[in-house]
Amino acid sequence: MLNMRHCPVCRSRDFSEMRSSIRKYDPLFSSAESTRENWILEHVVRKTELELRLLMCKKCTHIFTNPTFSGDEISRMYNYTGYHETIARARQITARTYPSATYDDYRDHPLNRESLRYRPVFIHSQVKAHVPESLKKIADIGGGEGINLGKFQEDKTTCYVLDVADGPQKIAGVIKTKNYDELKRHAPFDLLISTHTLEHIVDVGDFMDQHIPLSDYFYCEVPSQYAIRYLKLRQPFLNEHVNYFSMPSLRVLFESRGFQTLHIRVTYLPYQIFRMPVIVGIFKKTDGAVKIRKSRRLPFLVRELGILSYIQIYRRLTGRYPPFPD
Ligand SMILES: [Zn+2]
Repeated sequence: MLNMRHCPVCRSRDFSEMRSSIRKYDPLFSSAESTRENWILEHVVRKTELELRLLMCKKCTHIFTNPTFSGDEISRMYNYTGYHETIARARQITARTYPSATYDDYRDHPLNRESLRYRPVFIHSQVKAHVPESLKKIADIGGGEGINLGKFQEDKTTCYVLDVADGPQKIAGVIKTKNYDELKRHAPFDLLISTHTLEHIVDVGDFMDQHIPLSDYFYCEVPSQYAIRYLKLRQPFLNEHVNYFSMPSLRVLFESRGFQTLHIRVTYLPYQIFRMPVIVGIFKKTDGAVKIRKSRRLPFLVRELGILSYIQIYRRLTGRYPPFPD
C-alpha cells in the first residue's frame, strides 16, 4: 500500500482524519462489500490485516483513502479475470437484497436496463446543452468498448475509447486505443468523456497532468461524496474507489489545469442497479489561467458532525437526503 502525502486533487498537506478502521481478511464474511474487500485484501494487497483511514482535504474538501493502492496493487486489481469475477460475486449478493432481482436476471433488472438505455442519451444531451460547437472527434476515457458513444456516432462524430479492461458490449465503429500514448497521437480532441473513472485513480491530479490528451471540452461524471454506498459507510473499507469527490474538489481538479467550469451539479442517475448521486461537470479548456473560486465552507453541522452523521440525522428528521452544498 502507498501513503499519500498530499491531497490527490490540490496537493495540500492539510487534512483531517474522518474515520479509520482495521480491515481483516475473513473468508466467512458474505456481504457484498466484504466479498470484494476480502478479495482485495487477499489478492491485491496480500495482507490479512490493514489499517485504513479516510482523510478529508481541508482546502478543497476532497476525501480519499489512505494508505491507498500502489502501482503493483492496481495492476493486480484490474487483472481482468479476478476483478470481474469478484465484482460479479459482489453484485450477485447485492442483487438478492433487491426485490425481484437475482444475479441471473441482473442484466434485465429494470434499473440496469434503464441505465444502459438512458445514460448515453443523458451524456449526449448534457454535452449538446453546454457545448455549442459541432464535435468531429471525441474520446471516452474508461468507457469500456464505447457504450456511452452511440448518440455521438449518430452525429457522425469520430469516436475513440480507451479502457484498461475489455467490456462485453462491442460498439461498431468506435476506435479502441490500447494506452494513453496511442490516444495522444490522435489529439487534439473536441471533447473528452470520463464517466465513473476518476474515482479509481490514485493520484488523480498527477494522472490529469501526465495522461490526459489535449481537448477543447471535458465531460466528467463521478459519484458524489454522498453516493449511496458511501452513506452506508461507518468506517472506511477497501474497494476500488479511492477518491470521493465534492463539487468544490472536482472544480479544483479541472480549474487548476486551465479549464473553465461551464456547468456542474449533483443529480441522481441510474447506474447499474442503483440510483446514485453523481456529480456531472462540463469544462472548457482556456488558454489563460482560470481564477479558482474559493470553495464555500461546508455547513456548520457538517463540519461539526462529519458528513456521514449529518446525512443520517438529516434523513432521520426529514426522511430525505440533504441538499448538496456547492
Ligand atoms: Zn485538496
